[in-house]
Amino acid sequence: MTRTVEDEHGYDVVVIGAGPVGENVVDRVRAGGLTAAIVESELIGGECSYWACMPSKALLRPAIARSDARKVAGLRESVYGPLDAMEVFTHRDDVVGHWKDDGQIDWLDSIGVRVLRGHGRLLGPRRVEVTSPEGERHVLTARHAVVVCTGTRALLPELPGLPGAHPWTSREATSADRVPERLVVVGGGVVGVEMATAWQALGAKVTLLVRGGGLLPRMEPFLGEHVAAALVTRGADIRTGAAVSAVVRDGGTGPVTVVLEGGDHVEGDEVLFATGRRPRTEDIGLETVGLTPGSWLDVDDSLRVTGTDWLYAVGDVNHRALMTHQGKYQARIAGAAIAARAHGDDSLDAGRWGAHAATADHAAVPQVVFSDPEAASVGLTLAEAERAGHRVRAVDLDMRQVAGADLYAQGYRGHARMVVDLEREVVLGAAFVGPGIGELLHSATVAVVGEVPIARLWHAVPAYPTLSEAWLRLLEAYRG
Ligand SMILES: Cc1cc2nc3c(=O)[nH]c(=O)nc-3n(C[C@H](O)[C@H](O)[C@H](O)COP(=O)(O)OP(=O)(O)OC[C@H]3O[C@@H](n4cnc5c(N)ncnc54)[C@H](O)[C@@H]3O)c2cc1C
Repeated sequence: MTRTVEDEHGYDVVVIGAGPVGENVVDRVRAGGLTAAIVESELIGGECSYWACMPSKALLRPAIARSDARKVAGLRESVYGPLDAMEVFTHRDDVVGHWKDDGQIDWLDSIGVRVLRGHGRLLGPRRVEVTSPEGERHVLTARHAVVVCTGTRALLPELPGLPGAHPWTSREATSADRVPERLVVVGGGVVGVEMATAWQALGAKVTLLVRGGGLLPRMEPFLGEHVAAALVTRGADIRTGAAVSAVVRDGGTGPVTVVLEGGDHVEGDEVLFATGRRPRTEDIGLETVGLTPGSWLDVDDSLRVTGTDWLYAVGDVNHRALMTHQGKYQARIAGAAIAARAHGDDSLDAGRWGAHAATADHAAVPQVVFSDPEAASVGLTLAEAERAGHRVRAVDLDMRQVAGADLYAQGYRGHARMVVDLEREVVLGAAFVGPGIGELLHSATVAVVGEVPIARLWHAVPAYPTLSEAWLRLLEAYRG
């Protein structure tokens, strides 16, 4: 018979889900003088540490470094030949700590946070039941807040034959230790593009199936165009307007056939479905507090769930911006807001949000796609700015006009755009594509978030000859 233990003392805050976001929430509420417990059903560190950001970037780094080196005279001759896939996997395994979370546990212990292993589920307002792997039940009470940080899992479409075909999701694509000869990637968003880049560099023949008209559809169109052209040059087959209607893999092993609407088909040795994410909220007791299981959780700018005064949802699960840095930003805000409310500060509830508002989520989200070439953007695209009713002008730049570009990589191909609000003469958005361009993004984020007037940006002088001189050329192009 299973045992239920009722926690006598309770905690100020109980967090469900110890991904990067949950960890940051407990760190912040502890710093705000509150007690906290955190519940984790898999590995502390979450999707990001073990099956997403970290392993994917470990797979991509050698691909991008080799590609950059091949564009430098005198160096390129030393870097022909294939990547050593086994060495890449060994390094990836080190980066993810061999899928063990001991280090994270030590850190949570060191800041005095109680860690409970098991599945967390709401039992009604401020109460959380934790079912341990052994089936023991533990009930926790939160004096001030429960914070849901349960993240997302891969969304697989309902297609005939798909479950029996054992498709890769992002988890297999980041943890596999064998290079398939032929990899079919379904989906042209960030995960599809990054994994196509990594596995192509590791030696797979990649076919990328995209339902829409191009890659990276949420960014400025020229980013996806540059990335697609480079993938094709390296041998990928990209098919746009390709909707999958079925998947066939006899007996669940051997080659897999991906059938497209219209009857065409593609064969591979593995198929990766990178077709979106869904919230991990189907079994966390949302029905006990009047919310719908399986739904994304709507929040206000302090990350408090709409219609409650004690439940928060932070990170991927609120569907605001599915990226680690943005979730951790929200965690800092939510942690401070929870602590402020717990200490009787009613300024938020009186509408004086001050620093306790995740405003960057709305119009200043930075994102780097670690493709080859890299693609990066922050703020609004031209189309989004126009839809939002701004009077704007897009200023474009061929990165070959930047002196540092050809030094960085001979024959540099890249493009930059800034979207300027003509009423206020501030930058609403910026987008870049090209080798090494990801590191340029934070300067754009500062300009967008700081609403730095164009007239002041002239005095932010980029060093010669760096890629950052893109800013100078963009300003010159704006002035005309
Ligand atoms: C392939 C890939 C690459 C990515 N690369 C990047 C990148 O380079 N940069 C970037 O910023 N973002 C990247 N992302 C996105 C990033 O992984 C997520 O934004 C981030 O992991 C979200 O953090 P989170 O804490 O909200 O959720 P998660 O990391 O998903 O963590 C949620 C945690 O909650 C636990 N949990 C769930 N339900 C329960 C429950 N009922 N009880 C107890 N525990 C529970 C889970 O086990 C998990 O540990 C990538 C995503 C993918 C798929």
